[in-house]
Amino acid sequence: MKNSGSFVSKLIVSFLMVCLVSFSGFGQEEYKDPKNKALNEVYPGGQFYEVQNYVQPKGKKPPKNIILMIGDGMGLAQVYSAMTANGGHLFLENFKNIGFSKTYSSDNYITDSAAGGTALSSGVKTYNGAIGVDRDKKPVPSIRELAEKKGLKTGLVSTSAITHATPASFLAHVSSRSSYEDIAADFLKTNIDVFIGGGVDNFEKRKDGRNLSKELKDKGYQVLYNMQDIQKVKSGKLAGLTAPEHNKPMPERGEMLVPATQTAINLLSLSKKGFFLMVEGSEIDFLAHENKTPGVVLETLDFDRAVGIALKFAASNGETLIIVTADHETGGMTINGGDYTSGKVIAKYTSGGHTGIAVPVYAFGPCAEQFTGFMENTDIAKRMIQLLKVGQ
Ligand code: MG
Ligand code: ZN
Repeated sequence: MKNSGSFVSKLIVSFLMVCLVSFSGFGQEEYKDPKNKALNEVYPGGQFYEVQNYVQPKGKKPPKNIILMIGDGMGLAQVYSAMTANGGHLFLENFKNIGFSKTYSSDNYITDSAAGGTALSSGVKTYNGAIGVDRDKKPVPSIRELAEKKGLKTGLVSTSAITHATPASFLAHVSSRSSYEDIAADFLKTNIDVFIGGGVDNFEKRKDGRNLSKELKDKGYQVLYNMQDIQKVKSGKLAGLTAPEHNKPMPERGEMLVPATQTAINLLSLSKKGFFLMVEGSEIDFLAHENKTPGVVLETLDFDRAVGIALKFAASNGETLIIVTADHETGGMTINGGDYTSGKVIAKYTSGGHTGIAVPVYAFGPCAEQFTGFMENTDIAKRMIQLLKVGQ
């Protein structure tokens, strides 16, 4: 992945010249209001990275480590728009075991990221808005918590605030996804080894006056605020908080998800007993809510390059299962035109919200064949818990 640094810097320079995309005033839930519809249906193309081929390790032994990668809002159109943009290839092509996940929640044909995240973390269908609780608002254990209890190392990486619905579903238990400060406080109740994402304000500018970053430091965490410092960490517990709320969308974010994924894998793979890591490409969803094709493409490409980091590790490690999926599709996106040579993509949308269509599931590594065909989103969690042998 030597090319990735230059890929992103080229992207920032050329892309900002081509597109006048403004993300100012990007509040924690503001991405849900589509603006400038129809103005942003074209990704111009012109930026490519190289994709490596990895051979899936053979063997029937269950995996020691699991890396779950969630592209929030990433349906097949999002994936294929990125594939087209990158000249017809993605790291995702290394996955030969592919299935579909039914994403509906307990109270809605169309899930939100909280119910979707809880289904993927805990194997329980719950109501939209629920974080780590069932439909009676009773806490349900997540695979991350179960793994932690069994002595595995655990980590969470997201481009959004680490307190946002998807990562929160793997750590917190609150009846409403908007209780960001309660979610942040739940980090102190765990022994999570690594977390990297945005959301500093939920830890440090709180109504209750607590400074959770100080409390984390007292617990032995290295609390760091930028990727330069975060990437240097070679051991110990790490809290990486890289933005007040969400990290900026691509290309302004620069290299965050890729080095965060690499750093988390470096630290977690020190574990003798194995590890569980969840990595989220959070903002595919945000840009799809806004029906902005360039943003959707760039976010999905960024996520795919993070998938490349996980693949490189899993291919050489041999005991690591990677699952890549989405919590739901966003935007009802479809592709009306494209060009593999230039990387141009033309897309249209049927919605400013989520849709009910099944999303792809990609698996690589030991027991990957268990994640093929149609499945419930909850089956993904149940099978991962079984494979890691961390069930109660
Ligand atoms: Mg999310
Ligand atoms: Zn969404």
